[in-house]
Amino acid sequence: MAKKGILLVISGFSGAGKGTIVNRLIEKYDEYALSISMTSRAPRPGDVEGVNYFFVSREEFEKTIAENGLLEYAQYCGNYYGTPRAFVEKKLSEGRNVILEIEIQGATNIKKAFPESLLIFVTPPSAEELERRLRSRGTETEEAIRGRLARAHEESVGMDTYDFIVINDDLEKCVDEVHGIIETSRKQPVRMQDFIEDMKKQLDVYR
Ligand code: 5GP
Repeated sequence: MAKKGILLVISGFSGAGKGTIVNRLIEKYDEYALSISMTSRAPRPGDVEGVNYFFVSREEFEKTIAENGLLEYAQYCGNYYGTPRAFVEKKLSEGRNVILEIEIQGATNIKKAFPESLLIFVTPPSAEELERRLRSRGTETEEAIRGRLARAHEESVGMDTYDFIVINDDLEKCVDEVHGIIETSRKQPVRMQDFIEDMKKQLDVYR
């Protein structure tokens, strides 16, 4: 039987570089597929339909919930965000590892529904570095930076929900670290199961 892929949830502070890590992971290895979320928020300049999100109305979103079309969903800053079910199930059954880049409520619900999923939280090495990265973008007001830092404080409360914390101080190192986590957990349980099945068969003769 073909091996099922791993469901991988990546969350992190805004400014932690999780988007860059996910893009690099997909570029570097074929075995990953990125889930595109559905949202009721309006597209921002530069957002592309079907690439960043599937943009829908609140009504369409609620209809999709009612049809059980989402694997998880959450409200964030007054908008709905959710993971379309069909894509994830198809890719997992094809043996691909599926990445969900979602916030903590969604991550918690995924862990409840899929205990074998892996939850990774990406963070810069320190709060000082987080602030430095947010400032170095040079595009945001002092108020917006303060807002993002306050949000980071809120998000830090849920960090212990995650299976792994990955510190992003070097992109390539970080990408390999995430890939290493997946590789290890992919091999371990499968080998165990194979071993147990084989052992049971062998012991059957003594029944
Ligand atoms: P943004 O509006 O900045 O694109 O996203 C806001 C937040 O929603 C981010 O933390 C992002 O990770 C999260 N998010 C994006 N898609 C989903 C989803 O499908 N489900 C959940 N629970 N959160 C999502």
